[in-house]
Amino acid sequence: MSRNAEIARRGAEVLVGNYAPQPITLVRGEGCWLYDADGARYLDLMGGIATATLGHAHPKLRAVLADQASKLWHVSNLYTTEPQIALAERLTARCFAEAVYFCNSGAEANEAALKLARRHHRDHGRDRFEIIAFEGAFHGRTLFTVTATGTPAYWKGFEPLVPGVHHAPWGDLDAVRRLLSDRTAAIIVEPIQGEGGLRLPPPGFLAGLRRLADENGCLLIFDEVQVGMGRTGTLFAHEQEGVVPDVMTLAKALGGGIPIGAMLTTRALSKALVPGTHASTFGGNPLACAVASAVVDELVEGGVLDHAKAMGERLGQGLRAIAAEAGPDRVLEARGRGMLRGLALAGPPGPVIEACRERGVLVISAGGNVLRLAPPLVIEAEEIDQGLAVLREVLCGGA
Ligand SMILES: *Cc1c(COP(=O)(O)O)cnc(C)c1O
Repeated sequence: MSRNAEIARRGAEVLVGNYAPQPITLVRGEGCWLYDADGARYLDLMGGIATATLGHAHPKLRAVLADQASKLWHVSNLYTTEPQIALAERLTARCFAEAVYFCNSGAEANEAALKLARRHHRDHGRDRFEIIAFEGAFHGRTLFTVTATGTPAYWKGFEPLVPGVHHAPWGDLDAVRRLLSDRTAAIIVEPIQGEGGLRLPPPGFLAGLRRLADENGCLLIFDEVQVGMGRTGTLFAHEQEGVVPDVMTLAKALGGGIPIGAMLTTRALSKALVPGTHASTFGGNPLACAVASAVVDELVEGGVLDHAKAMGERLGQGLRAIAAEAGPDRVLEARGRGMLRGLALAGPPGPVIEACRERGVLVISAGGNVLRLAPPLVIEAEEIDQGLAVLREVLCGGA
């Protein structure tokens, strides 16, 4: 039996079966390359689901992690630690936000955002508790965030859900207007839907939501867990829309592979979370925050953002060419922005993912029939071209 298969067999005996992992075991990574337990090498075009921004085993992140590991790992938020303050300073210097709450995942960041919205209104004597989200949205797997998630398959069997959450069709401002009332606490939206299938907002949609939220008096929450941190060409995706939210959430790429989440907001709104209202034991952990600060520095000062913008264009062009060559029998369209790209397929993506893996390229799916690519932002032009060549071979087969 191969090492890959042997390890998978052990996993099936001791792990909850809520995942359906690919039949390889990854043991090592370097840059944009991953190695399995039998020594095979793969080009990583999925980046740990849009998370391994700087690739694997990045020398600077390793140095920062080792340095912090020799100083302080964890003391809880009952004491001040400097790495989380340094990270909050970096983030607030680069966006609308003035205050940061740290946690460990995207779901926790959104949970904090939704709780803050309810609490903020209650503090001001308003009975606003309803949340407007979107069909196809993904916000996480806690009960509140899965209720906000716009895919019924993810809630089924977990009812009763959190009351007061409504879903509007993606891009439909009139539907949002109809759902708004004096009970609405917040609108939560991904500036680009990730898991839902790499769906861009129609022009003016996010600006329209901002206007509706202001008219109504509810908060606007941008879930940038997947699209933030340089993934779509700017540090935060909403910069490209010229629209500023009241609350923004981050996770995935923030730590470059170390678990960390963040909820960012204004000083005024942050006042809803006074001592005792919300907390996380691990939130703002020094190891995670030290690494995340190094990620921000590499993106902004290290030139990775600019590099990623150019590489994203190259990837997009290549995917459009493949879509045109494969034709509508196989590929419906190329989608996405920056380094979050994909192909809407005519059929299920499973066989394509498998064929790519067998040829040494790792890709994932999104929203049913979409093949999703979210490579490390440090990927080089030749690596993109190698990946595109494999995709072309698989999708334009025989050509
Ligand atoms: C992945 C994701 C989440 C959930 O993050 P977890 O770290 O898995 O809890 C929330 N929102 C969006 C947009 C995501 O892509």
